[in-house]
Amino acid sequence: HFRAFVLDTTETGLSRSVQTLSRQDLPEGDVLVAIDYSGLNYKDGLAITGTGKIVLTWPMVPGIDFVGRVIESSSDRFKEGDSVICTGWAVGEKYWGGYSQLQRVQSDWLVPLPSSMSARDAMLLGTAGLTAMLCVSALEDGKVLPEQGPVIVTGAAGGVGSIAISLLAQRDYSVTAVTGRLEEEAYLRSLGATNIISRDEMSEPARPLEKQRWAGGVDTVGGNILSRILAETQYGATVAACGLAASYKLPTTVMPFILRNLRLQGVDSVSCPTHTRMAAWQALASNLPPNLEQTLHKVIGLEELESSAQDIINGHVRGRILVNPNL
Ligand code: NAP
Repeated sequence: HFRAFVLDTTETGLSRSVQTLSRQDLPEGDVLVAIDYSGLNYKDGLAITGTGKIVLTWPMVPGIDFVGRVIESSSDRFKEGDSVICTGWAVGEKYWGGYSQLQRVQSDWLVPLPSSMSARDAMLLGTAGLTAMLCVSALEDGKVLPEQGPVIVTGAAGGVGSIAISLLAQRDYSVTAVTGRLEEEAYLRSLGATNIISRDEMSEPARPLEKQRWAGGVDTVGGNILSRILAETQYGATVAACGLAASYKLPTTVMPFILRNLRLQGVDSVSCPTHTRMAAWQALASNLPPNLEQTLHKVIGLEELESSAQDIINGHVRGRILVNPNL
């Protein structure tokens, strides 16, 4: 028997409980994983609080990412004892996810934990770290170079934002962080940001073209902030957009694209092909962000998921929350 956090629908709304389950309760799959850590992402917050329509099948064990050791496998790709990372592929949405001591999944969803990376570091990064890395790769692919000027990162004190700052600073970009929590200035500077601007300032509606300020951007919030970034980005630059913490809307015009040759690169970590994610994890492992430990907000057990989910939706989480189902 093992413990798992279970979400279900009831007549009065969502029910949330830590339950004792047995292996027969687990879904089908070719790999059984003993989970070391999961993460708490914005999407997990939406699922647990019921704020967003994230969960598609009930009951659900949420948790969109986890790392652990294979304890049974009928797949050619993994054998007993291998350490694996699972992110995306609708795990924690349509398929049972990481908030459990054991989970059975499809081997196609897994990538090997790079040999130089600890399980803890893998989930300190988690979906947020993978996504941040994909955003940094998108800027590199767009030929954004450190000497071209500052790169802007939004949702800076959040999971993706924090790791994106660290990864960019490590690559010698000069990073401007946009935050609604100016009291986190010291934290953001410790990650490598050299300039901090307020969310309010960036939320002001922009004209189609504004003064060119940014050599590139990583946006986790969408809405007016992303449209302002597009209006302020330099000729020929690239902005990577991965999130909607402010809004799913994007009130913009074609002007920055047709007059400044801008590239807006969407970034998705959920259905990202396995070879791309393996390359991203390898890049993270061979060049671990130096300030990764600073991005740890706290380590929680399954019992604390409900309150921490509310915290992340309220924007009160700084960096990453690690979930240890074995606590
Ligand atoms: P998170 O830790 O909650 O970070 C989000 C940050 O956005 C907050 O910490 C806050 O930063 C800022 N924020 C919150 N509410 C805001 C608002 N109303 N207006 C402007 N900024 C606001 O979440 P996360 O896990 O890093 O995820 C960030 C976003 O990326 C989410 O939308 C998530 O769904 C998305 N995401 C997408 C992918 C993908 O594959 N495309 C993968 C991972 C995450 P400050 O306090 O510093 O302002």
